[in-house]
Amino acid sequence: MPLYNLNTSISYLKGVGPNRADLLKTELGIHTFNDLLHFFPNRYIDRTQFFKINQLQQNSSEIQLIGKITNIKTVKQKRGSRLVATFRDETGFMELVWFRGIKWIKDSLKINIPYVIFGKVNYFNGVFSMAHPELELLESYKKSLRTAMQPIYSSTEKLTNKGVSNRLVSKMIQHLFEELGLKFKETLSKSIIDKLGLISKSEALFNIHFPKNQSLLTKAQQRLKFEELFFIQLQLIRKKIVRKAKIKGFNFEKVGEYFNNFYKNKLPFDLTNAQKKVLKEIRKDLGSNAQMNRLLQGDVGSGKTIVALLTMLIAIDNGYQAALMAPTEILATQHYNSLVELLEGMDVTIKLLTGSVKTKDRKVIHNQLELGELNILIGTHALIEDKVKFKNLGIAIIDEQHRFGVAQRSKLWEKNILPPHILVMTATPIPRTLAMSVYGDLDISVIDELPPGRKEVKTAHRYDANRLSVFKFLKDEIAKGHQVYIVYPLINESEAMDYKDLMDGYESISREFPLPKYQISIVHGKMKPADKEFEMQRFIKGETQIMVATTVIEVGVNIPNASVMVIESAERFGLSQLHQLRGRVGRGATQSFCILMTSFKLTSDAKTRLETMVNTSDGFKIAEVDLKLRGPGNLMGTQQSGVLNLRIADIVKDALLLKTARKSAIDLLTTDPRLKAPENIFIREAYQELSKNSTIWSNIS
Ligand code: ADP
Ligand code: MG
Repeated sequence: MPLYNLNTSISYLKGVGPNRADLLKTELGIHTFNDLLHFFPNRYIDRTQFFKINQLQQNSSEIQLIGKITNIKTVKQKRGSRLVATFRDETGFMELVWFRGIKWIKDSLKINIPYVIFGKVNYFNGVFSMAHPELELLESYKKSLRTAMQPIYSSTEKLTNKGVSNRLVSKMIQHLFEELGLKFKETLSKSIIDKLGLISKSEALFNIHFPKNQSLLTKAQQRLKFEELFFIQLQLIRKKIVRKAKIKGFNFEKVGEYFNNFYKNKLPFDLTNAQKKVLKEIRKDLGSNAQMNRLLQGDVGSGKTIVALLTMLIAIDNGYQAALMAPTEILATQHYNSLVELLEGMDVTIKLLTGSVKTKDRKVIHNQLELGELNILIGTHALIEDKVKFKNLGIAIIDEQHRFGVAQRSKLWEKNILPPHILVMTATPIPRTLAMSVYGDLDISVIDELPPGRKEVKTAHRYDANRLSVFKFLKDEIAKGHQVYIVYPLINESEAMDYKDLMDGYESISREFPLPKYQISIVHGKMKPADKEFEMQRFIKGETQIMVATTVIEVGVNIPNASVMVIESAERFGLSQLHQLRGRVGRGATQSFCILMTSFKLTSDAKTRLETMVNTSDGFKIAEVDLKLRGPGNLMGTQQSGVLNLRIADIVKDALLLKTARKSAIDLLTTDPRLKAPENIFIREAYQELSKNSTIWSNIS
């Protein structure tokens, strides 16, 4: 038995000890030998090249030189002192400078012995210098297990302050390989390795830490990135397969009277082909004996609500109840009102449950639900409270799902002994690669077509200095009988500054658009729900022409007569938010406009966001740009997904590899669903190891 294995605590590694082990744990999450082995460098520096002092230039980056220290002196300065050493090679001299740890360094420096020094060069008063260089005696440099490409590991301020330098981390990893040897268990099958031309796990681990050259480094990265993505996909796809096999769903056998009656007599328009296609996919799921877990993606205004309604009618046809959950009270109320209107004259009972429903009325709803007297319940988070019990919930639909946490969503699963069918809808298009990673275990439907007759929203970027002409434009639109939104960033509803901006804006708009000719509504998060609803209703009924609001109106709100969306301080909004806001107009047949107001001061990212909005209204394109600008961790709905804590792969840059990984995982599970074949033994073992501490095992998404 070897003394150490991969699960050995990091504190046993030579050069670590209990104090550093604690630091490694808290700062980098490294607990075991294995963790350190998989702590990959985030960049590499080419150390094949040595410079001579007479080759130095004023703006060189990090470089290395060979030479000797010929003289050391301490120089007093305003506060404390600095240590200055003269460093010479055969072409000239330069200075090495230290400001901290002077005494210790002074004692350890050796005069007239060759050193390799490494660092960034400065130029001052005709002399080159290097502050706090990395120093190593040439003799030990030659002996060390060092390679041309020097790895740089990510670090934290605390680590640096406590002396855990990059050099020390490299040393630890060197000891690690000395203790463990160079052979590590393979985790992929021979056929995958051969087919994709990958190098072995052992080779990859060695070359990621000690790359012999660029080409081996690239191969090591390919191999480790593939492996990382492959196992995530394997988990997601297995999860889906297991769920389908294990979790029985209600079988909605028939499409009956409710559905057919509505479809034939009530539906106010023809469904688009995309809506029909999606509805077919949903119907197939509902009748398949397995539980449906489907993500419905559709750009703003693509008509998801009617799909939701038709789906709920199928549940009612089969004797089950349906629930529709929305993230805000405004949206839930709007859904309720429009469904009540659509279902008029049909024998469907439908109720609204939100935080502001009075206790007395709530009790009535609870009661009706349990007795099965209610067919459809619409609501906010109030829906998932424990008190809310259904007689037989058959389907739960979640609108704007990215607004809900995973925990909240999975609560819906528990509303029945057999989990209900689940349909989650999102209007924040997710780029394909991201969808594969974050929602890889859900079935995905896309409505990729807008209802006919929609005109693209004309979008313009205007500076605050042009405000007067914007006001003029708004007056013209209002004169045509149209309505206008003016939105302010209240990113954080509690921020006093934002709130003041909103109120100042409201006042100046009130002055510019005076009563009685103009009526203005205002809606923001600090208002009571009843007041919000009152103002909303005034706008919906057309009693007010202008709606001054914060982003509370961002999701879902549907008022077709509103034709202009003015977004104040547009530079402060993210792309998906801008897209959502713009989606509030262009819902009727008239030409609509979106005006993005900003100051002249714009960061380059802000410029890109504004240009993207002006140039396209394709939600998927916008999502791609957003992904590039912000990285996956910041996109809506991805935060809680452990899927994105990637060690080495990057779902934006490695999109192609991700597709390969997904395909490989699907192929594998198609031929060997339980990973029982002898040739897949390595994959099986690695998979089991991963599943032990997997973070992606949540119920939904
Ligand atoms: P979203 O997908 O953003 O939730 P909605 O469901 O709110 O979109 O639909 C937006 C508008 O389009 C609504 O007024 C709805 O009545 C209308 N609509 C939906 N489907 C169609 C269709 N097939 N033809 C015409 N109008 C439609
Ligand atoms: Mg909607």
